[in-house]
Amino acid sequence: MKTNPSKSSPPRRSKTQVVVTDATGHRAAVAPLPEPKAPRLHPTRILVPVDFSTASGKAIAYADAFASTFGAAITLLHVVEPIVLPSEFGYVPAPSPEEEIKHLDAIKTRLQKVAAGLDSAKGSGVEVRVGRPWQEITAAVTELGVDLLVITTHGRTGIKHVLMGSVAEKIVRHAACPVLVVRPEEKDFVG
Ligand code: ADP
Repeated sequence: MKTNPSKSSPPRRSKTQVVVTDATGHRAAVAPLPEPKAPRLHPTRILVPVDFSTASGKAIAYADAFASTFGAAITLLHVVEPIVLPSEFGYVPAPSPEEEIKHLDAIKTRLQKVAAGLDSAKGSGVEVRVGRPWQEITAAVTELGVDLLVITTHGRTGIKHVLMGSVAEKIVRHAACPVLVVRPEEKDFVG
């Protein structure tokens, strides 16, 4: 039977050995220690929630660098919060379904423009959802099989005296994957 040379290559020998000695101190057995496997990073899908603030641009830059390095795909996600109409003012004209669709389409186009500028643009996609931002973002993690979320501590509101914005805090608490949280002003390792 012919053997495939690449398959029949000898297993990697560990330089470290275990030596067993008997009661007299003589070597009774020697066995190589199995080679320890180095842990590998292999994210396949990275999610970046985008509120179109300058800060969220920084999360996009980090995600883009990670995606390019590891060959991962990026999804840019914006969540539109439903308009709450104050009933005490009586009749308030709600946007028509056509207006809403137009609004969502405009946001999608804006996200697509951002996605087109990514180094890792090939595997990237965009998504627009309607709901509470942190709930939609954490739901997307599970639904899209996201391995890594990249966010900034602050976004559009940017209240500096709080450690993190409310969306960022809830994402860190509830996301079912690791979250890289970038401060808008700090030492950088991308660029
Ligand atoms: P701030 O209170 O300063 O606006 P947030 O907690 O809202 O801070 O924002 C932190 C992160 O969450 C940012 O990366 C931002 O892009 C993201 N984020 C906030 N709101 C939304 C949203 N509606 N859709 C997508 N991402 C969002």
